[in-house]
Amino acid sequence: MRAVVLDHETDWDGWREATRALVLAGVPPDAIHWNVAGEAEDLYAERAPLPDAKGSFNVLRALVQLAQLAIQARDPERFALLYRLVWRAHQGERHLLEQAADPEVARANRLALSVRRDSHKMRAFLRFRAVDDPEGARYVGWFEPEHYVLEANALFFAERFGSLCWSVLTPYRSAHWNGSALSLGPGAQPSQVPDDDALEGYWRSYYASVFNPARLNPRAMASEMPRKYWRNLPEAAAIPDLIRSATGRVEAMLEQELRPPDQMPLGPVRARSSETGPQAPETRLGQAAQKASHCRACHLWERATQTVFGEGPADAQIMLIGEQPGDQEDLIGRPFVGPAGRLMDRALEEAGIDRRSVYVTNAVKHFKFEPRGKRRIHQKPEGPEILACKQWLDVERTEVRPLLMVLMGATAARAVIGRAVTIGRERGRRIALGAESALVTVHPSYLLRLPDEASKAREYRAFVADLTRAREIASELAAAK
Ligand code: SF4
Repeated sequence: MRAVVLDHETDWDGWREATRALVLAGVPPDAIHWNVAGEAEDLYAERAPLPDAKGSFNVLRALVQLAQLAIQARDPERFALLYRLVWRAHQGERHLLEQAADPEVARANRLALSVRRDSHKMRAFLRFRAVDDPEGARYVGWFEPEHYVLEANALFFAERFGSLCWSVLTPYRSAHWNGSALSLGPGAQPSQVPDDDALEGYWRSYYASVFNPARLNPRAMASEMPRKYWRNLPEAAAIPDLIRSATGRVEAMLEQELRPPDQMPLGPVRARSSETGPQAPETRLGQAAQKASHCRACHLWERATQTVFGEGPADAQIMLIGEQPGDQEDLIGRPFVGPAGRLMDRALEEAGIDRRSVYVTNAVKHFKFEPRGKRRIHQKPEGPEILACKQWLDVERTEVRPLLMVLMGATAARAVIGRAVTIGRERGRRIALGAESALVTVHPSYLLRLPDEASKAREYRAFVADLTRAREIASELAAAK
């Protein structure tokens, strides 16, 4: 008996290399004992270097895909099972995978399906929480997967939340993203994830905002969000209260639906804050954000994940207004945290503007997109959507009363100025709007779409120049007050 020791539970490269060498050397499945480093080894199996097998052989793509999934299953027999399938295919069973009733094929399919489900749950039920980190903001999420799905999903999270520094902790391994590189570390304990912070409150209120009491069905809620995961989910704490208050909320919803938006009551508090992040719930902006999270004034809420309200100090001198949240903003619930936001942050810094000092928002508060395969393709909001969402921008303008609004792109300009604007003709100068002032510039995502480096650099300089001019105009207006 030959022992093969893999480096870790999802050592795909190690398994593949060993499988190739052993199949080519003609080593039958029952002559191999598969192990993972650190596990007890078979006393009668001999650890020997892999045979120096020459040549290669092709494995059907479908079998490779099945093996890549099934190898993540928490089943100690999976390495041997997958080896047997490759061995049989190499022995001439070319249509092996078409025999769904074959016990080994059926078992591998079951494992792959279970891994796929577990991956889905990890993506759907993992919640990140903000933690203090000496190097800046970091988000940490805890999840207890059934299988070894962290490594494969870490790539997904890196793509989705590329602009944030985050760690995902599981009992068997951890993954860490620093904004540019992914690293894997040892497993962790739930106690390493803080259980009470601003983000937790945010998730709770988000869940409460999407919970529709008119469709209350506790059994359906449990299947949507399996009980097993409730303890990882801050919003689960809201479920008993939501169920108890459902009747009253249905009545309140009916009443609110019958009331025109300009009569929606906002509380008496007008807060002055210098922090970025979601608005504090007791402030008028916070109350408006809460109301906007229930908004159904146009159809854009149906596909989007959540309303993305503006954020920034309620006494900001400059309000930056973009078009609508993008893919990452929609998932995270904060404006300008994706690639365009990062570019904007860099340009703000070069223009001498501290992002924490400005209020940042969008003309439209829900992400409009077209699903295409696994991707969500941005779509420009249209007139009726911009008009429907203007109520929320108007609340923000009334509450913040900025000295200057920087309108980034045609949608923002149209929402505020009320007509189509040619950016190239009107950019970079003060536009008086009654008691308010505005300055038009491009949207940072326009810079990302430019095809060549020379035009990107040129347009970026022009964008920084517009922001610099905005800072000067705001200073002049503040001095004249
Ligand atoms: S896009 Fe604006 S108006 Fe439309 S549902 Fe969302 S918040 Fe309401």
